Amino acid sequence: MSTENRHLTIAIDGTSGSGKSTAAKNLASVLGIEYIDTGAMYRAAAYKALKENVPVDDDHAVGDMLSETEIDFVRGRILLDGEDISDRIRTLEISHAASKISQLASCRAKLVEIQRRIASQKSVVMDGRDIGTNVLPGASHKFYVTASLETRAERRLAELLEKGEQTTYEEVLEDLKARDHSDMTRKLNPLVRAEDAIDISTDECDIEGTLQCLLQHIGVNYAG
Ligand code: C5P
Repeated sequence: MSTENRHLTIAIDGTSGSGKSTAAKNLASVLGIEYIDTGAMYRAAAYKALKENVPVDDDHAVGDMLSETEIDFVRGRILLDGEDISDRIRTLEISHAASKISQLASCRAKLVEIQRRIASQKSVVMDGRDIGTNVLPGASHKFYVTASLETRAERRLAELLEKGEQTTYEEVLEDLKARDHSDMTRKLNPLVRAEDAIDISTDECDIEGTLQCLLQHIGVNYAG
């Protein structure tokens, strides 16, 4: 099946550290379409709130801040008010703040609107927590990516250590547990598997295997 001339909207949801972002990025690259990392958008909002001393649990104040904020994606880079902050948002501090700010109605309304606008204009692979259920319920393809808590903690730890963060396996594990809990139990758009999503477990699959699996479901042959 050819993907040319088709408006593809591929939704990839899953828990933190499940490997969904790597899978989504690789898939977008092979298909030659845009990758939209919605987690990075929540991180960008959190980054600005921390910088401007706006409380990340104050719906009103965050709404005011975001009404004068531009968040966009250009060639896989996240832009906050025109500035590329992609390399500054992958810290534990921002993860924690993003998890909090993403619970606010004002924040979700603003970011979901941007996400839907981008997906209406071009083919995308979009990853997050509520893409298949809320942002793009009519997505052309939906995937739900999972991995065990231990696997996810090991991956996240390696990523953070490589970036020079001082942390431990236990700290990362506790952070993931807290974020899972908050993502799955929050009132607005919690992380739930869309009924029509295809399950992908990355425990038994390496990066290439996961990519092949996604491509197979979309109906694309790719030799690598
Ligand atoms: O995926 P990532 O860990 O970068 O996401 C950062 C935070 O943003 C998550 O903890 C999650 O709470 C939130 N998020 C969300 N909805 C999305 C994507 C991310 O609430 N679609």
